[in-house]
Amino acid sequence: MNIILAQHHGMCFGVRDALRTTHTAAQRAPLTILGQLVHNPLVDRHLATLGALRGDLDDLNSATTQQVAITAHGASDRHRQAWQSAGHTVIDTTCPLVKKAHHALAMLVNEGYQPVVIGQNQHVEVRGLIGDFPSAVVVLEEADLDRVPSHPRLGIVSQTTQPVEIALRLVDAIKRRHRSSEVRFIDTICHPTKQRQTAMDDLLRDCDHIIVIGGRNSNNTRQLVQKASAHGLPTIQIEHADELDPAWFGKARNVGVTAGTSTLDETVDAVMQRLRQIAAELRSNPVHEFLRSMLHAA
Ligand code: SF4
Repeated sequence: MNIILAQHHGMCFGVRDALRTTHTAAQRAPLTILGQLVHNPLVDRHLATLGALRGDLDDLNSATTQQVAITAHGASDRHRQAWQSAGHTVIDTTCPLVKKAHHALAMLVNEGYQPVVIGQNQHVEVRGLIGDFPSAVVVLEEADLDRVPSHPRLGIVSQTTQPVEIALRLVDAIKRRHRSSEVRFIDTICHPTKQRQTAMDDLLRDCDHIIVIGGRNSNNTRQLVQKASAHGLPTIQIEHADELDPAWFGKARNVGVTAGTSTLDETVDAVMQRLRQIAAELRSNPVHEFLRSMLHAA
């Protein structure tokens, strides 16, 4: 069994910076994080060991500490100002590429476009994006496009972790439905997401089984899983190495491995190590090897 790690995988600079900033702030003084810093339960546990508390961005009573942190997914200016006005020191760990999406949307609104966001309606990043623009419409699939109102100018941005193909397909569909409107799309999908999606294309070409490592509520991790599943390959999503079951690899020859942008390097290393163990166990079991060769010959 060969194990192939995607060329681009795992933690992005935005998550790395958010972790570093939060870590430093939590060591300096008591800190409440206004949501899940990044979508990774192992990171939550690490931050809890530093004494960091969890609050709710929507609830000004949810933090008793002076310091509060906005997560890497960002927040609306309305929320940021509310916490500052309530007397808190706000540590802003918003990824610069999420800020870029905020600026793009604000620019479109200032120029008179009806704002449209491609993304998941209730995702924290999307809620932050539309938080200052009540007229914004969120769409994720063609069935949502009925909600896009007729307007001479439609301005579209995307959640940073959406696959490019999905965003472009929706932009085309909006153009078809609103032929007399000027439709402008600013591509705000982040580069690390694009790299991981492209690296997945390489895995899909070379592999027969796919493992995606990442938090179950991580959007970019889920998108990687969906891409592999849609390709028809046996695909599993795991959060840590202990979830690997050797039985799953019965027919596997080339196992592709990738990880979402909030997955820790040490988690990827542990998964790779466990996979190498499983491969060695399978090789050393002659009965198993025989059955595998029969399966592949069939
Ligand atoms: S996935 Fe993209 S937008 Fe999100 S933190 Fe990483 S670099 Fe930033």
